Amino acid sequence: MTLSEFDIIRRYFAAAGARRNDVAVGIGDDAAVVDVPRGRQLVLAMDTLVSGVHFPEETRAEDIGYKALAVNLSDFAAMGAEPAWATLALTAPRNDPAWLAAFAEGFSVLARDTGVQLIGGDTTRGPLTVTVQVQGFVPHGQAVLRSGARPGDVVYVSGSLGDAGLALRRWQQGWAPISIDEQYLAMRLNRPVPRLAEGCALRGLASAMIDVSDGLAADLGHILEASGVGATLALDALPLSPVFQRVCAAMGQVQGARLALSAGDDYELCFTVPAARQEQVERQFAAFDCGCRVIGVIEERAGLRVRQTDGSPLLFEHGGYDHFAAP
Ligand code: ADP
Ligand code: MG
Repeated sequence: MTLSEFDIIRRYFAAAGARRNDVAVGIGDDAAVVDVPRGRQLVLAMDTLVSGVHFPEETRAEDIGYKALAVNLSDFAAMGAEPAWATLALTAPRNDPAWLAAFAEGFSVLARDTGVQLIGGDTTRGPLTVTVQVQGFVPHGQAVLRSGARPGDVVYVSGSLGDAGLALRRWQQGWAPISIDEQYLAMRLNRPVPRLAEGCALRGLASAMIDVSDGLAADLGHILEASGVGATLALDALPLSPVFQRVCAAMGQVQGARLALSAGDDYELCFTVPAARQEQVERQFAAFDCGCRVIGVIEERAGLRVRQTDGSPLLFEHGGYDHFAAP
């Protein structure tokens, strides 16, 4: 049986994700039509995943479907916004039913979990590329921006850093995850959990926020630049999972920390909080499994500095991944 473009849409995407009653027209017409609640601002985020660039070519279809949505939801979390709808542009080399079913299922599982309905998209043939746009809202004027960090604010990060980066490195060395530790790392790479509830809870508390997609140093760097400030972090405050610590024990604390600072794909939240609101933040986070940790402080002096345990400065890679960087 060969699937036409329209078969693919009907069979795999027409019912993907949650059912929402604010969708007046979903998949099947020329465009989608939705109701935007009064008093809210519309929030939109888009991310593209290219095979071989954003994920290894042998990544499972369900993981690609899941992650294409997850990375957008992570951007929503970092704004303190609530997702509602998504559109999906899929370019695939083949109309392989097993691949499409698995891809749609991976996407749908996360969409249902987060109350997101797939309301439209585009389906084309070509090298595997997945673009998702998520639409949703935030109470008027309450989006958490990158530009609000002030000297004296405390820098936090949710969850732990470096697991996904470690998994990706292994993968590039021809890795097949077998042990429980390896499977944990693979999950952290392929199934990042967008910190949506955490992001919403930080509205009105965090002065600035970003999600860590390109590595902590690079992403915190964006907050520092947008806010016109600098920061100093404590190396031994970086949150590292027990698995990360076990696997990296051989490379030593300093190399492990460098990896945690520069590796991408964490999809944790990095945020700044005025000292007076710290207690409230920690009370909020007591309800969340991922936890959060103070890793440093915002300062007037521009730039990002990391102090080692003995007080000496750590040298590390500041830049994140740049698709157009000179080779
Ligand atoms: P048009 O030719 O008018 O652009 P399409 O044939 O591309 O229309 O799409 C038909 C309907 O299917 C539209 O509602 C479109 O949003 C939806 N659609 C197409 N591809 C996808 C997809 N990958 N995921 C979700 N909806 C899709
Ligand atoms: Mg179209």
